[in-house]
Amino acid sequence: MGASGSLLALKLLDAGFKNITWEDEDSNIVAWKASTGAIYPANSTKFGDDALCHTAWAEDLSNIIPFVEQSTYWFNHKSPPHEGKYRITKSSPSGLNMAELPSYHLNAQKLVPHVRDRLALTRLELGELRPHKRENVLFIHTHGSTHRLSHFYWGWAVLVQLDYDTAVFGGERRPCFYFREGRYVMAYAYPIPDTPYWYAGSSIIKQRLGKEKSLDIWSKYSRWQDNFERLSNSEVKVVDHGQAIEGWRPACGDSEWVTRKGNQIFLRPLWNSGLRHFPHQWWGVEKHLNA
Ligand SMILES: Cc1cc2nc3c(=O)[nH]c(=O)nc-3n(C[C@H](O)[C@H](O)[C@H](O)COP(=O)(O)OP(=O)(O)OC[C@H]3O[C@@H](n4cnc5c(N)ncnc54)[C@H](O)[C@@H]3O)c2cc1C
Repeated sequence: MGASGSLLALKLLDAGFKNITWEDEDSNIVAWKASTGAIYPANSTKFGDDALCHTAWAEDLSNIIPFVEQSTYWFNHKSPPHEGKYRITKSSPSGLNMAELPSYHLNAQKLVPHVRDRLALTRLELGELRPHKRENVLFIHTHGSTHRLSHFYWGWAVLVQLDYDTAVFGGERRPCFYFREGRYVMAYAYPIPDTPYWYAGSSIIKQRLGKEKSLDIWSKYSRWQDNFERLSNSEVKVVDHGQAIEGWRPACGDSEWVTRKGNQIFLRPLWNSGLRHFPHQWWGVEKHLNA
């Protein structure tokens, strides 16, 4: 029960399913411990329906999932990134742009322990529940490490504090910043709900199954800081940094959402959008619950 499992457990509880049990192998190779938790506005349909999922978060999920923050979405592109079809409603003096739609941010490092505590009494020993022996039980594999997993993408996050002109970027909501340069340079800072920090991130480095390994974060962070401050046109400064965390994003070998074999359901391993595209996972599971 990492990020996907915790989100699913809350949706199931909210839908009235009380008899939930769960198990987890407490792996070190997980995404949720480093996940930077953004649900940004977008209109791409290449991987999932971005706009539909953003609306689902706005209308439903942001109210039932704890540790969610609504933010203003700033970028350095001339037109909205990720095929965004919304208006730009504000620009900074140097030309950074703000989306008409908000972004949502989830603190997965608080969410997962919160849900695990809430369901602590229903946790089973690993392997205690054998799906093939329990016909009347629906067994949902919410983690990415199933037969559907093809590889991992390693990434990192560092907690940072930022300084910016609140007359430009401030207001009621904290800003979130997404900067790109060309195809390869990405430097973002997303607010971390329930904390004064932002996540700085990240890298996307492919690792083969069985070959997962830790990489140095601080050299990448140093490059991130240079890129971030430069691409903000010096309008945003990093004033402090804290802890560094690494994570492994589970990637999928096929393009189905939720699949089923007998009484076992398998969510799609989602390498960079397990939170953002969670509504697709929920809709996929929902179909089987009502079948
Ligand atoms: C640096 C970084 C930044 C990210 N940023 C974003 C973002 O901005 N927005 C977004 O939507 N997504 C983001 N992601 C991706 C997102 O975190 C993942 O899509 C999501 O965590 C996947 O959820 P999961 O439950 O499949 O895996 P995890 O969160 O990794 O949890 C898997 C859980 O299952 C357990 N487990 C694994 N195998 C087994 C097994 N065989 N039996 C029992 N238990 C098992 C593990 O111990 C773990 O607790 C990011 C990821 C990283 C690493």
